[in-house]
Amino acid sequence: MRGNITLIQIHVPQDVFHIAVLSGPEGYLLVDHPEAIGNPLVQKALDDMGKRPVKFLLNTHWHYDHVGGNEIYGPDAIIIAQENVRKRLMTKQTPAWSPTPIGPYPERAWPRITFRDSLTLHFDGEDIEMDHYANGHTDGDSVVYFAQANVLDVGDIYDSKGGLAGGVDMEGIARSLSAVLERINDDTIIITGHSRLSNRGELAMYLPLLQQTIAHVRQEISAGKSEKEIVDEGLPEAWKPWFAPGDIPVDRDFMHQIYATLTHTSSLDQ
Ligand SMILES: [Zn+2]
Ligand SMILES: [Zn+2]
Repeated sequence: MRGNITLIQIHVPQDVFHIAVLSGPEGYLLVDHPEAIGNPLVQKALDDMGKRPVKFLLNTHWHYDHVGGNEIYGPDAIIIAQENVRKRLMTKQTPAWSPTPIGPYPERAWPRITFRDSLTLHFDGEDIEMDHYANGHTDGDSVVYFAQANVLDVGDIYDSKGGLAGGVDMEGIARSLSAVLERINDDTIIITGHSRLSNRGELAMYLPLLQQTIAHVRQEISAGKSEKEIVDEGLPEAWKPWFAPGDIPVDRDFMHQIYATLTHTSSLDQ
């Protein structure tokens, strides 16, 4: 894709999963990995690139479709994540979106290096920065920035044009994306968890829409509207260009999550 960074895409009927791979003489560094069942495809892609050992595995957050490689490559590969990711993988999780509880994961899948705010790693000639942005998609989100390649992996806090990314704290996501926007430039390639590659221009289009929608929902709540009324109204018309040439989709979850954020009714256990 650029520099020593390669993007592996795993397609399944309803979704696509992204693994960012840094490769070089010292081995591979992976950012995220879909469920363990997807490993043969990931491993084949890695083998095709040159059969190097996986030395580091970075998790952008604890969701099962991002940590599936941990139990496969750990403990030989060093797993790194924000400290809340480790806490969640060590204990049983019962998010509302999962029909069954998740975890605890086996010990070999737990991150061995954790950090609170940020961490820098020097590997394969790259300077890799992992920055935690509190409470957005989850309570353990990190973005991974490859300085030389000028590539940023944002995990699930953002989807490229035409997409919407939700989470436990939508104001938190807006704050995280403001910080991301400040730090990248027009040349930066943005890798997302599940949508196609993006860039600063698209993010600069998305962020104000998210901020305006949060402000709009806040007004509606003050005006006494119920959650159902707000969700039923759907996304404001201002979103049209973001979804063009398609129509604005009905996304009840997105509006619900903004409502839940502003009324402090969302749970961090998501
Ligand atoms: Zn996620
Ligand atoms: Zn995901």
